[in-house]
Amino acid sequence: MNNNYKCGLYIRLSKEDEIKNNTDSESVSNQKELLVKYSKDNNYNVYDIYIDDGYTGTNFNRPGFNKMIEDIKNNKINMVIVKDLSRLGRDYIETGKYIEKWFPENNVRFISILDNIDTLLDNSNNEFIPFKTIINDFYSRENSKKIKAALRTKQLNGKWVGGCTPFGYMTDPKDKNHLIINKEEATIVKRIFDMALSTYSINKIINVLNEEKIKTPALFRNIKKNTLGCWNRTTIKTILKNELYTGNLVQNRRNKINYKIRKLKLNKKDDWIIIKNTHEKIIDEKDFEEVNRLLKLNGNTKSNKKNKTILDGVLYCGECKKKLIIQKNKNKKYLMCNTYKKYSKLKLCSSHSNNYLNVEKNVLSQLKKELDKIDINLLYKKIRINNKNNNTKELNIKIENNKNNLDNLYLDKLNNKIDEEMFNRLFIKINNEIDLLKKEISNYSYKPIDIKEEVVNSLININNNQFINKLIKRIEIHQDKTLDIYFNFKMI
Ligand SMILES: [Zn+2]
Repeated sequence: MNNNYKCGLYIRLSKEDEIKNNTDSESVSNQKELLVKYSKDNNYNVYDIYIDDGYTGTNFNRPGFNKMIEDIKNNKINMVIVKDLSRLGRDYIETGKYIEKWFPENNVRFISILDNIDTLLDNSNNEFIPFKTIINDFYSRENSKKIKAALRTKQLNGKWVGGCTPFGYMTDPKDKNHLIINKEEATIVKRIFDMALSTYSINKIINVLNEEKIKTPALFRNIKKNTLGCWNRTTIKTILKNELYTGNLVQNRRNKINYKIRKLKLNKKDDWIIIKNTHEKIIDEKDFEEVNRLLKLNGNTKSNKKNKTILDGVLYCGECKKKLIIQKNKNKKYLMCNTYKKYSKLKLCSSHSNNYLNVEKNVLSQLKKELDKIDINLLYKKIRINNKNNNTKELNIKIENNKNNLDNLYLDKLNNKIDEEMFNRLFIKINNEIDLLKKEISNYSYKPIDIKEEVVNSLININNNQFINKLIKRIEIHQDKTLDIYFNFKMI
């Protein structure tokens, strides 16, 4: 039976894993060794080994992974084996999507060795999948917090830690955390401020620069943008509003929305980290303030984009079972049965009119109650112990192997195959290896931490439509405004 499978072994190692695990247990060669041995022991035909070395698990855009998906689509493989779930990914929603949806839909059998997950066998471990991925997600969140904290310390010390340097500056070749002036670009920045000080409107500034065919920041930096190489309002305003030109380092202006989305959101001004006089100024503070006073007079209103509603796609009519639609009336959103709306004259269904926000509040509080019933701490402990047992199993095997090597070494010495010096060298080396492995086993102790509150809250607080779709199968709303919620997860 096993010969019907053509399998792909998937290996991932992120830079964080590499730094964190100085023990090497996650290393590419160790993962490979484990996967190859496992497929050999089980008689699986290995088609290819896909490796992503140096790629984070929070993002699925990895070359090895993409190649594997291609091979699945081309029917080259129909089985995927990983060491543990977090190798596949650390993003709850995306990982779940592959394991629960995409793999089954494409007839791919999925095995995660250390988690005892095999989608072919209907074992109870498969029910853990959603929660294991949640825990992995949680781990990423903790990691990203640590990275953020480290960046913050640097920012507070006046170190430049941004990616792309602001137009007019470049990083000091002697110190990458220090900005120095880029003369050619700085001249243009100065010119823009001068024009603004002479009360030129932004449009007038744009015209002058475009007529003189002055290169835009994007062209200077070779960034491809759909702006046809012309100056526009955003570019000018970004420059005029940037206090960095006065020699003060302004950082933490934007943050990633969360650890898995690359989009940035603007922070409140109170949260900006401003350190004075960290680099050479291009504009006097006085002039900067004057320009910004003028800008404010011209009135610049912020555009406020509204979030997509989080219950999109799970709302159904309790009577006709068809979809409920979300309608906007002035600033209020309300629900209505689609059948009623389409065929109101035929009276096939009633309106089911409901204030959307009330429904959302109600659903979230019920979801929280359901999640509260799950003993996440216990679950976390189980997963940790399960991982521990499997990891220590692996380590014990290695210790045994090393002991065998020692036996062989003695034999070789007795048979005069190796000399005294060689024997001593190998003897010490193997014994050191055994000591390291033993130490590693003792490191696998379970540290109880109270993560329940945080996990439940973060689940609730993710304003993410995909996430709700994952936890909730369907919500039926009846004409009398009562709700039936069908959850996607099982109680443990
Ligand atoms: Zn209806």
